[in-house]
Amino acid sequence: MTHQGSCQCGAVNVEITGEPAMSAHCHCLDCQKSTGAGHLSFAFYPADKVKITGELSRYTSKTDQGNTMSRSFCPVCGSRVLGESSGFPGVTGVALGILDSSDDIAPTMSFYAKRARKWDQPVEGIPAFDELPPHE
Ligand SMILES: [Zn+2]
Ligand SMILES: [Zn+2]
Repeated sequence: MTHQGSCQCGAVNVEITGEPAMSAHCHCLDCQKSTGAGHLSFAFYPADKVKITGELSRYTSKTDQGNTMSRSFCPVCGSRVLGESSGFPGVTGVALGILDSSDDIAPTMSFYAKRARKWDQPVEGIPAFDELPPHE
């Protein structure tokens, strides 16, 4: 299985092979700030399955669990492309909205439901975690 995608202006392209380990909606405040929306939807892949063409800019910050979270975006148009956390080494989150098609990898859970805005509540019918799901 291969998924292709690009940022809004087309300067950054992504190609992903294989199936995601999981995919999720994230309602954390950082996702809200960085998108200007109520949540960001990600699919999580082994880092070596995600191939990027083009230049990405990166913003790194601490999470409330003490991990380092870095968000990559197109420096030209600002589209969010990737997310990586030191708490999940080797895992790359790809923003679902940049993919050409993603119906087959729809999120199956919601993160940071406690931060969800009244006007953007977690999707019903899938598990919603107050923060992140417990580590295995
Ligand atoms: Zn762009
Ligand atoms: Zn988030």
